[in-house]
Amino acid sequence: MVTSPDKSRNLGIESFTLGPYETNCYVVWADSLEEKGSPSACWIVDASFDPAPMIASVRRRGLKPEALILTHAHVDHIAGVNEVTAAFPRLPVWIHADESAWLADPMRNLSALGGVPITARGPDRLLRDGDMLNLGTTHWRVLHTPGHSPGGLTLWCEEEQAALVGDALFAGSVGRTDLPGGDPRELARSIRERLYTLPPQTRVMPGHGPETTIGRERMSNPFVRG
Ligand SMILES: [Zn+2]
Ligand SMILES: [Zn+2]
Repeated sequence: MVTSPDKSRNLGIESFTLGPYETNCYVVWADSLEEKGSPSACWIVDASFDPAPMIASVRRRGLKPEALILTHAHVDHIAGVNEVTAAFPRLPVWIHADESAWLADPMRNLSALGGVPITARGPDRLLRDGDMLNLGTTHWRVLHTPGHSPGGLTLWCEEEQAALVGDALFAGSVGRTDLPGGDPRELARSIRERLYTLPPQTRVMPGHGPETTIGRERMSNPFVRG
């Protein structure tokens, strides 16, 4: 699934559906603050199994990767961290503080369950609710959206009307809450209070399945009513 960058905007987002759980990972880029002609800054958001297509896209587009941001630390979102950070050696790994220990813990990141324990590099920076991040000319707010996992986060760019929500909210569905650290009430609260309160036209780019919007989910999501 590829979302073409909208030419009228500063922001480009390409999605990659990777691995056996069909996890959506994203390359997000924005015009550089530096003078025209300098490479666009980019983030890689989540790195599932076999992230080679993302690495190739960053190189083909000539982007300057500034961080690998993890929406949460389940194995299907972190299995490719080491491959990505090997490709871009000084790339820092950012994750919510509540999952700071999960990259090094195959029980918590669930990789042990599948029989192939995975530990991933990082974290280099711990994110918290309300943190403001800059990507080139764009500004992003970290929203803590726990419930699917305790450190689940959303990256929200108000001016570009985009939100990368990880496994909190899907088109017509929500993240599962039966995994260790999951909490259905907390997930419903995250969705109602942190996501449904965003502008309705906000594009929602989830960790699985197709893109949607805040307005569409608030009107029609059968699991968490607006
Ligand atoms: Zn997950
Ligand atoms: Zn997932």
